[in-house]
Amino acid sequence: MLAACLPGVRGARPGTTPAITPSDVRSRIYVIADDSMLGRQSGTVGNFKMTEYLGREAARMGLEPAGDRGTYFQVVPMVMRRPDSSSRLIAGTDTLGIFKDFVPFRPTSTARVGTRIDIAGLQAVFGGRAGDTTVVLDKALVAGKLVVLDAPLGSNGQPTATYTTAGGTEAMKYPGAAGIAIASLDLQSSPQSFQRQGSGISESVVSSRGPGGILITTLAARKLMGRDLGGLNPGATGLPVESRIGFVDSAVKAPARNVVAMRRGTDPFLSSEYVAVGAHSDHIGVASGPVEHDSLRAFNRVMRPEGNQTRAATPTAAQWRTILSLRDSLRKIRPPRMDSIFNGADDDGSGSTALLEIAEQFASQPRGRRSILFVWHTGEESGLLGSMYFTGHTTVPRDKIVAQVNMDMVGRGRKEDTPTGGPLNLQAIGMRRLSTELGDVVDSVNGARTVPWEIDLSFDAPGHAQNRYCRSDHQNYARHGIPIVYFSRGYHQDYHVVTDEAEYIDYDALSRVAGFVHDVVAALANRTDRPRVNRPRPNPLSPCRQ
Ligand SMILES: [Zn+2]
Repeated sequence: MLAACLPGVRGARPGTTPAITPSDVRSRIYVIADDSMLGRQSGTVGNFKMTEYLGREAARMGLEPAGDRGTYFQVVPMVMRRPDSSSRLIAGTDTLGIFKDFVPFRPTSTARVGTRIDIAGLQAVFGGRAGDTTVVLDKALVAGKLVVLDAPLGSNGQPTATYTTAGGTEAMKYPGAAGIAIASLDLQSSPQSFQRQGSGISESVVSSRGPGGILITTLAARKLMGRDLGGLNPGATGLPVESRIGFVDSAVKAPARNVVAMRRGTDPFLSSEYVAVGAHSDHIGVASGPVEHDSLRAFNRVMRPEGNQTRAATPTAAQWRTILSLRDSLRKIRPPRMDSIFNGADDDGSGSTALLEIAEQFASQPRGRRSILFVWHTGEESGLLGSMYFTGHTTVPRDKIVAQVNMDMVGRGRKEDTPTGGPLNLQAIGMRRLSTELGDVVDSVNGARTVPWEIDLSFDAPGHAQNRYCRSDHQNYARHGIPIVYFSRGYHQDYHVVTDEAEYIDYDALSRVAGFVHDVVAALANRTDRPRVNRPRPNPLSPCRQ
């Protein structure tokens, strides 16, 4: 019904060819990252339009629908969820306010539990440093209590803003606790981002009961414990706390949908097995206010080399001079241009485009032995919700998915975009974590190229502070024991900034990534044996570990 009311989405120019070419990927990204897509946020009309475009392209290519009831779509039962703005914690005579002294991080996105956490007489207890597995308090000591933790340490030994893995570790350690509070709110690069409306799934796919989680400021930690955390031993008790925290769920504005299409294999036995290849169709929508594109870009070039992932600092006088001279040089080319739409050309317009081009090439070639499943996930930015739902409700038997290849942010990676960048740099994450054979396939396909990629495994290192192994859709496949490989060309200054635009994409490199991923998928589809899982499988209910 909704589709009939929507203004038309421009299709790819008639020029797209079965072959993967820089000009094809360019024409597709200019459609996907157009302002009319409104930042493609899951559950909004923008993402719905994007999925219409993807579904129509899949049909035009002659791919088989593999979503719900013979369609290209799988509807994800998503709800919008935001913390109730009157939420507070009362510690002794102090009242701690939401978004000022604390922010909820669990269960804001990935599961539906009670929508209120109202507890009086909650005892705070110090649990040491978040993520430190050498400290485990007695179960009886933490049962029903609020475990207060110091900020986790990054790989450089310094307190880090990254809390997901540490938070998950603590939730696993203390399933009987009422809540966990991590004192890293002061370290967050954009604390205001927690005020954005989040989303959740109206059905709990993963049973995720357990403690609620909040990030707190150092000052709030002192108020909860009665003194600085640095002077406390694990197990020390703090003040009695009253929790008045709530979440408000509302309906999404437009259906959130995964797009699922298939190229069926020909082998009488192997065609019932699937090689899955994926990207995410969604991005983060529209900013609360407009900013001037070139000024912001000049500022971030100097101050935030990884965009929204770099914590903003105050420029020195010398840095200001560089920023202003950069801005002035851009002013000579064009007048100021205000911008408020997160176009997500790279994140993940690049992966979505590569997936279309890969699908178009497969559709024009003789079929392989195994079937190939193309999945454009929604809700990645909302907490990997689309892939969580898909892997919990696969439209083909889950144990027949032999591997998943994920592409997220494969459109940049020039030397000026990322310190490790260059024309041949390709980051690969996770490719030997479940199956060393999958890693061998990737290496052998790469080795056969005229000009091989320099495969960069540095972001796959266990414990790497960027936590990339846990931060995109492949994670939900790996959780279920499916071997994965995640390809990326890396973070850059436009990451989660309105300046992530089509004009900055490296189209030549992107088309080469798509061609390579096509060949990896073809190799997996045609080899006799599926990649053997010869490394330990994770517990599907455990938090992800980088
Ligand atoms: Zn992404």
